[in-house]
Amino acid sequence: MAAALALIDCNNFYASCEQLFDPALQGQPVVVLSNNDGCIVARSREARQLGIAMGTPYFQVADRLRDQQVVVRSSNYALYGDMSQRVMALLKQRVPELEVYSIDEAFARLPSLPADELSRWAAELRVVVRQQLGLPIALGMAPSKVLAKLANRLAKRDPARTGVCNLLLESHLPDRLAEVAVEDLWGVGRRLARWCRLRGLATALDLAQADSALIRQGWGVVGLRLQQELRGISCLALESEPVAKQETCVSRSFGTAVLDRLSLREAVAAHVVRGAEKLRRQGQRAGRLTVFVRTSPFAAGFYANSISVGLPLATADTAVLLQRALPLVDQLFRPGHAFQKAGVLLGQLQPQEHLQHHLLVPCSPQQLRRRSRLLQAVDRLNQRFGTGTVQWAAVGVEPDWCMRRQHLSAHFTTSKADLPMVSAHE
Ligand SMILES: [Mg+2]
Repeated sequence: MAAALALIDCNNFYASCEQLFDPALQGQPVVVLSNNDGCIVARSREARQLGIAMGTPYFQVADRLRDQQVVVRSSNYALYGDMSQRVMALLKQRVPELEVYSIDEAFARLPSLPADELSRWAAELRVVVRQQLGLPIALGMAPSKVLAKLANRLAKRDPARTGVCNLLLESHLPDRLAEVAVEDLWGVGRRLARWCRLRGLATALDLAQADSALIRQGWGVVGLRLQQELRGISCLALESEPVAKQETCVSRSFGTAVLDRLSLREAVAAHVVRGAEKLRRQGQRAGRLTVFVRTSPFAAGFYANSISVGLPLATADTAVLLQRALPLVDQLFRPGHAFQKAGVLLGQLQPQEHLQHHLLVPCSPQQLRRRSRLLQAVDRLNQRFGTGTVQWAAVGVEPDWCMRRQHLSAHFTTSKADLPMVSAHE
């Protein structure tokens, strides 16, 4: 039997999470803003219907949104990340294999059922996710990943499909392919789209039916694979095992420019803390540490700089990384500059299990074990009671360089303090 894959994703994920925990927002237009309340990155269905475009800078439409009574929210990554994990955990129980592709979408191998039963199965899955997590999902089913992506798009575009599009069952596949422009295909970037248009290939159907020799000549194996996928021949495998990361980067633009050395140190310290947490979660240690800073590229006197150091003993220990990172900040700092961004890059990552010892750096296994137990305890406390419950002094108290998030909702699922209160009166 041919492969049966699905692309499952949450509709308007960030906006749906906001609506889920605030019943007053249901049925209301809601938009979610990017970091520092920059641009619109998610819209509820109602906001979409008002014609609010994705990616619009917030300051350009703030007045209009107020007039139209659109609810505005800052990105609440703690909430979205937590809801994402719940969605993925539920999906994993229901399918034989799952590749988590982004925060709100996953490719799945479908259970071996006849194609018509899969449509029923998908409709049921939508009900289960809605009941257990309160989120709307859409499913596109097809014999290949590229077609599954395309099917998911059709599932959402056409309300009559009620969130499910099963191309495994489609008797008029060419008609469906003709509905989708090449630009909207997964894996087709601007350059490939332009190349196609110049050769009169305007839709997914045109690309599927094009001369393979022409595709190979222009785009090599990548193009041929894409064409095969469009023809329903699966070339791109599911990647359910996460590939071990080579490096981890933590960086943020500041809400307001940073002028003094202490604030810059605190900002970099906060990134180191997050980076070290990430490493421990990934079961990795870093062998190299880079700190980078920059001012606004749009202001006069642009300054950007970075310093890397090798770590003789690879580590995921926050204290060790802070000790190495903070002196680098002092070297990078220049008085009189308004810093707009800083970040930390942890490289030469290696699995936690095999630690390469260093002849000149003494460390006892006992000592390492004690450190690792301490850090595990810190991570668990922060997971359970909310980020920052146990904090490193280097990060400072109430830093003023924090992201601008003036419309932030509560951390409903990750902080006990944010649980809604219900009062009962007799
Ligand atoms: Mg989505």
